[in-house]
Amino acid sequence: MRKPLVVGNWKMHGNLAANAKLLAALAEGWPSSKQADCVVCAPYPYLFQAQALLGSSDVRWGAQSLNAEGQGAFTGEVSGSMLRDFGCKYVIVGHSERRQLYGETNDAVAAKYAAALSHGLEPILCVGETLAQREAGHTEAVVAEQLDAVLLTVGPAGLSKGVLAYEPVWAIGTGKTASPAQAQAVHKFLRGKVAAADVDVANGLRILYGGSVKASNAETLFAQMDIDGGLVGGASLQWDEFLSICLAARPKAKVAS
Ligand code: PEP
Repeated sequence: MRKPLVVGNWKMHGNLAANAKLLAALAEGWPSSKQADCVVCAPYPYLFQAQALLGSSDVRWGAQSLNAEGQGAFTGEVSGSMLRDFGCKYVIVGHSERRQLYGETNDAVAAKYAAALSHGLEPILCVGETLAQREAGHTEAVVAEQLDAVLLTVGPAGLSKGVLAYEPVWAIGTGKTASPAQAQAVHKFLRGKVAAADVDVANGLRILYGGSVKASNAETLFAQMDIDGGLVGGASLQWDEFLSICLAARPKAKVAS
């Protein structure tokens, strides 16, 4: 049985005062980690605040990227060990904004994934196709290539220590959500690909859906057989909306596919 997980990606949003309200509300409102995991990935400067305000709650926190190197002359970068210093459990790698805006290649993402593991962090690997790639019928080839780069680097055992997130690029921040059936089809494909390498790892792997998840659509998405929760951008900035999404991830009967 896979434990559902909802991760909030704040991107480059927030300030001390607004974060304090949001984090306190989550710490207070999230009932327990027994049925599902609730996580916020804050910008680096606010990890200290997340640690201070979430430390005694069941909400966990993480970062949105890391450098693949352990330390050194890499101005502006942050290492996995620094994230551990601030109590991070998770780190997002390969978000489409990093791939598109900062030129992160599949190999660079794989190196970051491996670095996260080496620092005891749980990487959340994002994969997903653009609208042009979907319309050209290349969705499976694109996500397979993104996944393969990581599988080749860390093997199924390494994959089992992280989380996979399917995020169609055309659904991120656009208000366009993949339909539950569209999302399920890609999740099933991804799980099948992992199963070809290791069935047990595939069965235990949490695969999150990301792309305009809201309180109003979370439940139907999370009811799909291979969707184990969500990676949430915009809606994670409002505590009540995010909390509703996290609550919707608690286990229920799944729709057969
Ligand atoms: C994201 O940033 O990973 C994301 C899915 O954003 P949004 O929920 O705003 O589409």
